[in-house]
Amino acid sequence: MSAHLSTVLWTEEELEFRREVREFCDREIAPVADELEKGPYPREMIRKLGRAGYMGVLHEKEVGGTKRGVSYEIIVAEEISATNAGLDMARMASTTLYGMPVSKFGTPEQKKKYLEPIVKGDKIGCIGITEPNVGSDTAGMQTRAERDGDEWVINGEKRFITNGSQADYMVCFAITDPTVHSKKGMSAFIVDTKTDGFSVVKDHDLMGMKSARVSHLRLEDVRVRPGQVLGEPGQGFPILMDELDSERTAIAAEAIGYGRTPYEIAVKYANEREQFGRKIRMFEGVSFKIADMAIRLEAARALTLTAARMLDRGMKATKQASIAKLYATEAAIQITYDALQILGGTGYTTDYPIERFYRDARLMTIGGGTAEILRFLIQREVYREFFPK
Ligand SMILES: Cc1cc2nc3c(=O)[nH]c(=O)nc-3n(C[C@H](O)[C@H](O)[C@H](O)COP(=O)(O)OP(=O)(O)OC[C@H]3O[C@@H](n4cnc5c(N)ncnc54)[C@H](O)[C@@H]3O)c2cc1C
Repeated sequence: MSAHLSTVLWTEEELEFRREVREFCDREIAPVADELEKGPYPREMIRKLGRAGYMGVLHEKEVGGTKRGVSYEIIVAEEISATNAGLDMARMASTTLYGMPVSKFGTPEQKKKYLEPIVKGDKIGCIGITEPNVGSDTAGMQTRAERDGDEWVINGEKRFITNGSQADYMVCFAITDPTVHSKKGMSAFIVDTKTDGFSVVKDHDLMGMKSARVSHLRLEDVRVRPGQVLGEPGQGFPILMDELDSERTAIAAEAIGYGRTPYEIAVKYANEREQFGRKIRMFEGVSFKIADMAIRLEAARALTLTAARMLDRGMKATKQASIAKLYATEAAIQITYDALQILGGTGYTTDYPIERFYRDARLMTIGGGTAEILRFLIQREVYREFFPK
């Protein structure tokens, strides 16, 4: 039995949940997976995910969630991604990237208004961190929010925002006190995208993730009321940091999904395709690739589940989430590359979805913290362990 279906790693309830999610994907997503690639994903699909409960595994019952935890979120992320990667990127941007800061730092009123409809799938959320001049160095953020009476006025641009042009709400990070370091001078706001001054500059034309929409946004004198500040003014940076470990763990699970489907196709293809009078799996050049793919998938899954279990126990998981995300995303790129190679010329056509997963997987050593930044974080955690202050 493969580790992803094994009771050594998972509880019976988790395995049953995985079967349920997989059936949902086979029934609702797989038949339209190619159609979805024309993008943008239909809102109806997000609604279906909400109604099925897949927008709410991390969220409290008060807002319609099930609060089952990160170990369930990684099951949803892997299964949907194994069917259509862009759709899960959209789901996760809404429920995790946008949803978790609201869930953890929002008031009961904010959660009712701005989170419950996300969990139901009736509304779509996005998170606005990245800007034209600010990527990895989030502390260098340039978007500003200034007080005007009891309101705030936001000005700036946000780039590469998943769901940007589709979203109803954005958790937008902005500098509110430029006189101090942004660790203390950044704040988080819930912005209604229908507010005057909010505009979509364009949707980016991406290499992959074609079913999703990723946008460049502009905020010109966008007014927000005091009830739209998330947490306290000045608390933006800790809110931003808090979200990253659960995001990275979920992205690791998505990457396992991108790898899994091409791996399964390659295993079957190598058992059917014959050259030189024998199945191509009989050649070590092919079968050792299959072995490496299996190793990478199993290792990625164990690392991701470790991070998820730690987060579910309330433990700090910066190192484990970073390791899981880095390993799983690099593994997915290698697996999709090798799977395409095993199918030869057929792999390079659109007859199989491997080329799609190959393009999708390439994003994931960039978004949610680049591979270089993750290696920096991992070594920093190592040195903190060896030489505690
Ligand atoms: C499809 C897609 C969806 C996205 N969705 C969102 C979203 O929903 N919300 C959001 O806010 N952002 C989103 N992003 C932005 C993403 O998080 C950033 O692209 C990422 O953080 C990297 O920033 P950058 O692209 O500006 O690259 P840069 O930070 O400019 O980096 C360029 C290169 O320099 C390297 N580099 C930078 N600093 C260092 C360093 N200190 N040490 C070593 N190497 C370094 C990087 O690793 C990279 O290789 C998305 C991006 C894409 C492509």
